[in-house]
Amino acid sequence: MGTYAVTGSASGMGAAVVQQLRADGHTVITVDIKEADVVADLATAGGRRAAAQEVLDRAAVLDGAVLAAGLGPAPGRDRARLIAEVNFLGAVELLEAWRPALAAADKAKVVVFSSNSTTTMPMVPRRAVRALLERDVPKALKTLRLFGKMAPSFAYGASKIAISQWVRREAVTREWAGAGIRLNAIAPGAILTPLLEQQLATPAEAKRIKAFPVPIGGFGDAGQLARWVVFMLSDAADFLCGSVLFVDGGSDAWFRAEDW
Ligand code: NAD
Repeated sequence: MGTYAVTGSASGMGAAVVQQLRADGHTVITVDIKEADVVADLATAGGRRAAAQEVLDRAAVLDGAVLAAGLGPAPGRDRARLIAEVNFLGAVELLEAWRPALAAADKAKVVVFSSNSTTTMPMVPRRAVRALLERDVPKALKTLRLFGKMAPSFAYGASKIAISQWVRREAVTREWAGAGIRLNAIAPGAILTPLLEQQLATPAEAKRIKAFPVPIGGFGDAGQLARWVVFMLSDAADFLCGSVLFVDGGSDAWFRAEDW
């Protein structure tokens, strides 16, 4: 049995992952802004540092980590910043701190939550993505400000593209693959969780979401997505490295079938 750290554990897909890992007999250290073993605000540098350290205080060796904490593209003045901090830095900074504990395990596995918005959302400014990869949130926000009320949506897209690029770049390096750590991402489509429910509560957003092409139809289920994550943490995924797995009812394929 292994020891896993899971962020975003209080709700939606993170909570479903925790439930399945514990049901399988694993030890899970949960991290969230509420209702968790480690309560921390991943939207602040101090909160990220404290969360990373508290997990390490509880476990010197980690068999895996799941980075599911995230904020969706809801309206709000400070929302774009919160999205950038939680969705991107809230994954990267924790993983960098946990890397030695992951390297200390045999074949550790990491699953980061990306999104199919990375390939299905047009016009996400690459400048904002680059700024996030440089860890310069104010610079990213400056670019995103041009989008006015839509800034949170583009911040969301940028945060998920940046985290996917970071995963793919880092996964194959000496520090990660070379240390035996399998670093991968999952890119869900619309999954019926509180995050999506919040978006569906706004009529204009609900209309947009319902009009979005999902070849298989409907919304995904948090428990099903969690099963994919648990599979990506299992021995069956020993040869999985630097992959971004789309589980999205076919939307990514619909948009870019010829994109190879
Ligand atoms: P959710 O809202 O149900 O859960 C997100 C969790 O993150 C919550 O428990 C919340 O408390 C936590 N969180 C938010 N801000 C935080 C902060 N500042 N500090 C610490 N924790 C914080 O959402 P979900 O749908 O389960 O989303 C999980 C992940 O999947 C997110 O990264 C999201 O972007 C991604 N995703 C979701 C969908 C979807 O349709 N639901 C689609 C693609 C990707």
